[in-house]
Amino acid sequence: MNQSSTRIADLKHHVGAVVTVRAWVTHLRSKGKVAFVVARDGTGILQAVLVKSEVPEASWNAFAELTQEASVALTGEVRADARAPGGFEMGVQTLEVIGASPNDYPIQPKEHGIDFLLDNRTFWLRSQRQVAIMRVRHELEQAVHDFFYARDFIRCDTPILTAAIGERAGLFSTDYFDEGTAYLAQTGQLYGEALAAAMGRIYTFGPTFRAEKSKTRRHLTEFWMIEPEMAWYDQDDNMDLQEAFVRYLVERVLERRQEELKVLERDTSKLDCVSQPFVRLDYGDAVKLAQGKGSDIVWGDDLGAPDEALIVDEYQRPVFVVNYPKEAKAFYMKENPLDPRTVRCADLLAPEGRGEIIGGSQREDDYDKILARLTHEGLPVEAYGWYLDLRKYGTFTHSGFGLGLERTIAWICGIEHIREVIAFPRMMGRLSP
Ligand code: ATP
Ligand code: MG
Ligand code: MG
Ligand code: MG
Repeated sequence: MNQSSTRIADLKHHVGAVVTVRAWVTHLRSKGKVAFVVARDGTGILQAVLVKSEVPEASWNAFAELTQEASVALTGEVRADARAPGGFEMGVQTLEVIGASPNDYPIQPKEHGIDFLLDNRTFWLRSQRQVAIMRVRHELEQAVHDFFYARDFIRCDTPILTAAIGERAGLFSTDYFDEGTAYLAQTGQLYGEALAAAMGRIYTFGPTFRAEKSKTRRHLTEFWMIEPEMAWYDQDDNMDLQEAFVRYLVERVLERRQEELKVLERDTSKLDCVSQPFVRLDYGDAVKLAQGKGSDIVWGDDLGAPDEALIVDEYQRPVFVVNYPKEAKAFYMKENPLDPRTVRCADLLAPEGRGEIIGGSQREDDYDKILARLTHEGLPVEAYGWYLDLRKYGTFTHSGFGLGLERTIAWICGIEHIREVIAFPRMMGRLSP
């Protein structure tokens, strides 16, 4: 079937020719003996014109029966027309209905509430805006692989079903034969560290799961994370890599996805800031800055979303907040030799009030220190046996980070809430569709 039909995005190569387009109806209009069908196929929008005297009676009658979302085959001559959405128009010779669509299609051209749209996510995804977001997501996923491939990082996949290791936030669990309980991975990092000792520079790119009970615009229970882990990188090398990576991702979308950004009405001038060096701000100074702007944060607290927004708004470009207090961060971060109350880490905050998109650190490479941290935090040391042993057999300086894909897409696209940038979001209260 593909051989005989043309995708809307390819019409530019067929001006003057007669082609068949298979698509879904979005709008219908008629003025006496002339009718217009606007249709989409996921690659673009096509306006097709039927003139009663020029089409078979069956096609004219088919138009009268058409409704929104009916699938159709439109055959006719392609004409360049700057006024038409997408820039091309078809002079229809025949119209055939492939699948009718009853009049009660849930999504109508009017405002719908967010719960209604999420309940109807399968249909909502058909909108031009949602398609544009998914296309940017696709571009970013490819850009991630291109960036690391060019730098000779090995892509490694880490398990989703794990024993109880990971971050501190909630874990999802499921029965696992005689082994008892398995937990859905909150991060691939610890496995990534083992892989870095085997392969030098690696990255994982997979789904991660956290039983986040908070209802915020930046937390999902299932999200995708890119986690590079590099042997022989210290924290400064780590931040340099992150900066190059984020700059590449933004520039890649600006370069290749202008059409989509236009559909999303994104003010792309706001993204130009990535070409400047990213700010590197000590945690202590970040706290003072937030306090000066009215926050009641005290030294020792992790930064909350409102604090992050206050900090990043000061600079209007990405900000690394570096060297957080040990107690605010995970056990695996390396103690800062210059101030042992802190660790060699950084969160990267995205501008426009977005806040954290990356958490990264140099990893603690001292066996005794990491064991002490595990014990101090009351974590099950037995479960971390293989992880601890990485420090026993050839310990090494290494660093890594985790970038949240959805937060990055939301920032680049200017989408308020991350539930809109993943096809089927999972959040508290939402497991379907
Ligand atoms: P937050 O402080 O916002 O809760 P976090 O510090 O718990 O985030 P990390 O454990 O550092 O997050 O995870 C690394 C990255 O993964 C984050 O910087 C963010 O981009 C992303 N991320 C973390 N939790 C979520 C989530 N629930 N939904 C979507 N992305 C997330
Ligand atoms: Mg969290
Ligand atoms: Mg955080
Ligand atoms: Mg973090």
